[in-house]
Amino acid sequence: MPSNRAKIYVLVLVSLAIFVIALLPEPQVRTTPSFVLNNITLYDGATWHENAKLTIFEGKVINSEQAPKNLPTVDGKGQYVIPGLIDAHTHSWGQALEQNLTFGVTSVLDMFTDINFMRANQHSRQQTTLQARLFTAGTLVTSKEGHGTQFGIRIPTIENAIDADEFIAKRLQEGSDYIKIVYDAEPEKQQFGMRFTSISQDVLKAVVKATHIRNKLAVVHVMDEISALHAIESGADGLVHSFGNSIMSTELLSLLAQREVFVIPTNSVLASIGQQQRGRKLLQYSPLAYKVSSHGKSGLMSSFPPNVGNEEYWKNALENTRLMHRNGITVLAGTDAPNAGTTHGISLHDELAILVEAGMTPTDAIHSATGAVSDMFKLPHVGKLLPGFHADMIMLNEDPRIDIKHTQTIVKILLSGIEINEAELNDK
Ligand SMILES: [Zn+2]
Repeated sequence: MPSNRAKIYVLVLVSLAIFVIALLPEPQVRTTPSFVLNNITLYDGATWHENAKLTIFEGKVINSEQAPKNLPTVDGKGQYVIPGLIDAHTHSWGQALEQNLTFGVTSVLDMFTDINFMRANQHSRQQTTLQARLFTAGTLVTSKEGHGTQFGIRIPTIENAIDADEFIAKRLQEGSDYIKIVYDAEPEKQQFGMRFTSISQDVLKAVVKATHIRNKLAVVHVMDEISALHAIESGADGLVHSFGNSIMSTELLSLLAQREVFVIPTNSVLASIGQQQRGRKLLQYSPLAYKVSSHGKSGLMSSFPPNVGNEEYWKNALENTRLMHRNGITVLAGTDAPNAGTTHGISLHDELAILVEAGMTPTDAIHSATGAVSDMFKLPHVGKLLPGFHADMIMLNEDPRIDIKHTQTIVKILLSGIEINEAELNDK
């Protein structure tokens, strides 16, 4: 039996805790709705269904047989419903998550952000707030003066394989969902007008191993063939860029296929390196262009200096995506926004258009930004409209199977079944 004094201590502590919780700013959490959406053409993240219905209970998709009777019904006649899109390569800060949501990108896989941003926003994926769900690598793994150290965020770096275990344990303690590693096999060569150091292949191997021991994914930033080969040999689960400085060899393609390594080519940024000005064009033709903020516009209008890449770079990059897809390698859609020539949200729609230019069917392209990302990154609640998944979806006016640009004919965006009201988003 606790003494009376102990009881008083407990009481004081509990009251203090309640007081502190009451003082915390209230996140904008909504009550999640329950309803049945009827008469829709549905892509569930893997398959299309005609004249389908989707049963949503408290913000999640459920099996219609298990639904309570008399749920309100919504007629979705003439609408094409696809899962909310996932951008598999972004860098988030500021209003990135809000901006993504405006364009139907309901989840992002961030590939390096400030850990303070990570901590402040990871809750978004559990709750229904007015922002895209954030999954993130947190701090990336790089060497002293390596790529990733130039952005003004002070980050820890790694030089020796022996430190890998402790380094990775720290990242996961901080909250990294997966580990992103920067690797360059030939750091003595300049890339994109810049020269960085790189971790060695030994460090790369040790980092991948330390990540796998802890059952997390290790994905690698590479920008050329030889670095890609080393990354795969070192056990990488995925590559977070493709490249345009050469055509992928059959050796690389077969190794990617054999080891089932997925690739996020980030064509949007490779096109920008290759001087394609796609961001500028997007502003001219996209029915979503009116939503782009002035900050977003300047991102789309900006470009890499002409000496870093050219038409040939872009042609190779597009060909590499075509080759990967044709060889059965899983290609995921990611933009690398907000790099020059891109911005959060709208650029992912353009990435899908590029994937179709590279020979994917529109359905393959949508899969690469929904079900395939869910499968590869083992995200059990996003990317599909199947029982157990969040009811994150976009409703389109026109059939995206006919033209991938129809993903831009968004009528409604739902997050956990809640319709996103843009006026409210813009007020934030
Ligand atoms: Zn990136």
